[in-house]
Amino acid sequence: MAAGILLLCLAAATSDFDGADEAAAGSHHGPDGFRNLTGDYEEPTFFDFLRWRFSRDGRKVRGPESYHFPLAKNDPGALAANLDRTTLTWIGHATLLVQIAGRNVLTDPHFSRRASPVQWAGPERVVRPGLALEELPRIDLVVLSHDHYDSLDRNSIRALRARPGGERTTFAVPLGLADWFRKEGVENVVELDWWQSHSVDGLELTAVPVQHRSKRSLIGGRNKTLWAGWVVKADEFSFLFTGDSGYTELFRQIGEKLGPFDLAAIPIGAYEPRWFMKPHHMDPEEAAQVHLDLKSRKSVAIHWGTFILTDEPLDEPPKKLAEALREKGIPAEDFLVLKHGETIVIE
Ligand code: ZN
Repeated sequence: MAAGILLLCLAAATSDFDGADEAAAGSHHGPDGFRNLTGDYEEPTFFDFLRWRFSRDGRKVRGPESYHFPLAKNDPGALAANLDRTTLTWIGHATLLVQIAGRNVLTDPHFSRRASPVQWAGPERVVRPGLALEELPRIDLVVLSHDHYDSLDRNSIRALRARPGGERTTFAVPLGLADWFRKEGVENVVELDWWQSHSVDGLELTAVPVQHRSKRSLIGGRNKTLWAGWVVKADEFSFLFTGDSGYTELFRQIGEKLGPFDLAAIPIGAYEPRWFMKPHHMDPEEAAQVHLDLKSRKSVAIHWGTFILTDEPLDEPPKKLAEALREKGIPAEDFLVLKHGETIVIE
């Protein structure tokens, strides 16, 4: 039982900034690993984790068989041929294909059956990937938010590297994760600290701070590798992939420094119970606030509807998001919830 949560959320670089704030000064590098800088952050304890698991097991959490999410029909041929239109396809969970300026970018690629170190146990996918690995166009860039199993999937990374032309795919990762990729045979890896930038194939990449944590094995240390969001800019278009994060004032800072954004991917799922999940996972109301903080022109919901990681029903986040958007006066078309596999064209 305890293994369930432990699986869960489970290059040279230049800095664009002057080091005036704490993050740029590097104080998130602690003596025992990386740490969150936000003032009121408190790391939940192992006791908290046990309290959650025992309370959870006393209630009914709906199983994977109770969910039926429709897959959108998409057109992999058109995506592969597309050179000029900006598109976004939600493949599932935090995996997106984003086409910007003729470049194909993949976020937190996950195509496996389970978000787990093994494929015989752990959270199981309730809906297949909206695009299969074989249907992907050439991938120029992969951005990775952190090392939890629902974001960093070994089989998917291996498969992407093994595709024809896979040696030319650049993998951008937060500090401390490049070694993991090199061990997997990925040489073309760019490792960035918060607020560092790097140019690749005409895309300007920046890693940005978010509030989360990292841990990949039952016995390995916590927070030995960093977690981050990613800004990808090209041709005056800017996209932000927030990765996985609790709600903090960091989003306002990111909006001020690098915004406004034309497009943002914001998590809306894996938030219950709040007393335990809040530091690391925002809820839909907070996601709506992040949309405002970032000054995002259009946002897309991620990190929901794919793996059962936490206690809220898997189909609840879009309903709560719709309420939050209404309350905050944000037009529904400005923060979209897509079907798995759905492609949108950004004008
Ligand atoms: Zn995570």
